[in-house]
Amino acid sequence: MGTRFGAGFALLCWLAAAGVSGGGQTHTHTVLLVTIDGLRWQEVFHGAEQGLIDRDAGGVPEPARIREQFWSESDRERRRQLMPFLWDVIAIEGQILGDPDQDFHVRCSNKRYFSYPGYHELLCGFADPAIDSNQKRNNPNPTVLEWLHRRPGFPGRVAAFASWDVFPFILNRGRSGIYVNAGWQPLEFFRNPTEKIQWNKLAAEIPRYWSGVRYDAFTLKGASEYWHLRKPRLLYVALGEPDDWAHAGRYDLYLQATQRCDRYLRQLWESVQPKTGQTARTTLIVTTDHGRGDGREGWKSHGAQFPGSDRIWIAILGPDTPATGVRRQGTATQAQVAATVAALLGEDFSATDPRVAPPLPGVLKTKRP
Ligand SMILES: [Zn+2]
Repeated sequence: MGTRFGAGFALLCWLAAAGVSGGGQTHTHTVLLVTIDGLRWQEVFHGAEQGLIDRDAGGVPEPARIREQFWSESDRERRRQLMPFLWDVIAIEGQILGDPDQDFHVRCSNKRYFSYPGYHELLCGFADPAIDSNQKRNNPNPTVLEWLHRRPGFPGRVAAFASWDVFPFILNRGRSGIYVNAGWQPLEFFRNPTEKIQWNKLAAEIPRYWSGVRYDAFTLKGASEYWHLRKPRLLYVALGEPDDWAHAGRYDLYLQATQRCDRYLRQLWESVQPKTGQTARTTLIVTTDHGRGDGREGWKSHGAQFPGSDRIWIAILGPDTPATGVRRQGTATQAQVAATVAALLGEDFSATDPRVAPPLPGVLKTKRP
């Protein structure tokens, strides 16, 4: 009896130390949520679009060079060239939702198809018609980050790094109390103090193409340093460049920014992998805030007046997600991401509000070790 109690107690202590929550239904201990602003499903599933690698339609000054970097006759090879981590790793070991060719449709349920309404739906789990602009107004609704931050085991362990300076409002930094570093805000957490000086000096000296959006390289650096120093259980990384290069009408820079985002995903994923002998306990979710239009002009913009802007994609990789690759035949909405993040961490966000959509189907099926 004594020994059995002892073993049970030891197991409980181990579960507590490992941070297993909600009775330990999931293997995921930490979630890395990454969004790539305005990256179209067209490029995700088909790679670069031939008609846009062009001076007029795509604003590409050196089409030959961009064709060399991104063009291949085969769809499959072309998308791999653009996003090798997504196609060589996530598509094999995880899942990708939203390929219309596979009859899987992921859509925004908000009717706006621009950033704040999209991030609101994604992070709060429902579309709120009151969110109708990108203005810096504090979000009246709690995001899944804010809700988790108040749950046992999460205070001080939820953080966000964003390229766009509206995120402190979307995440309601004041009310939620979560750490948010966004826009050209200096980076604060570094393992090496010399690097802190160098990175912030560089950010202050380089020309800024957008006053409200910093380059994703800074966001990524801030997020990786924070990950190593603070060990958050939910880290949100909001990358922004692809949307802004598309608005600027530069298809070459849009493709290059997308390829960098894919490289950042690989870097983040590799840096969170456990040392040999330990179990992998991180789930990566990657998605976007909205789609964009189509054609020679439509690709630059998005919104209700640009058909197709409602269509998005979601990629998931982690110990609780079956490796089904590109999902076939189904539908999902952007709103389902919030409860999926919580469910992976053993928490039920959809029970908090009847408006919150349930977790995505088929992405959380605990695999026993
Ligand atoms: Zn945009």
